Amino acid sequence: MRMILVGPPGAGKGTQASRLVATHKIPHISSGDMLRAAVKEGTELGQEADTFMKAGKLVPDEVVIGMILERVEKDDCKNGFMLDGFPRTRPQAEALDEALEKAGSALDAVVLIEVPDELLVERAVGRRSDPETGKIYHLKHNPPPADIVDRLVHRKDDTEAAVKVRTEKYHSETAPIIPYYKGKGILKTVDGVGEPDEISERITTVLNDA
Ligand code: AMP
Repeated sequence: MRMILVGPPGAGKGTQASRLVATHKIPHISSGDMLRAAVKEGTELGQEADTFMKAGKLVPDEVVIGMILERVEKDDCKNGFMLDGFPRTRPQAEALDEALEKAGSALDAVVLIEVPDELLVERAVGRRSDPETGKIYHLKHNPPPADIVDRLVHRKDDTEAAVKVRTEKYHSETAPIIPYYKGKGILKTVDGVGEPDEISERITTVLNDA
């Protein structure tokens, strides 16, 4: 299964992606995680991406497209993959399609997780991730166990100001990929308001109908 998760910042893409990759036994490719790792390692790509990310802006297409296409061409993606956070612009979507077509494959499904803007700031500001397990928590809605609280990380771009910019970018730059995939007949839309388990069930239902 070759699939993509799309949704605004704080929609729950990371949480749902982790569950889906375990079920479908496919690699989880998060462009945000790859970029954060590059920033941490101080690579050339990371240095280029850092300023954009801190401000909540999109990293330029030419930087992200090369990074992701190189990743999906790896052997572990032969039987499928889950892309989380990519594509985020129409040129990224087209570049991915072109590369897959050249390789004789195509996307099976694009899952859009819809969450109203007014819920996004609260979701992102309370979000914490565990660097050891990669698990994502929310201080109020999905509280972490007390013994790991001290090691949890709060993303630099999960501030109110950056989330507002990221949400605006989502509407202006990422939303245009929705009609693009709808036109291809592979878009599956789910309501992202509710508990993570409920949303997982909704995703399983739409994928089964695929
Ligand atoms: P995420 O973890 O998916 O929320 O991504 C965090 C940040 O990384 C975004 O706000 C962007 O600055 C950058 N980023 C991640 N994926 C992309 C992408 N596909 N295109 C451009 N920028 C990206």
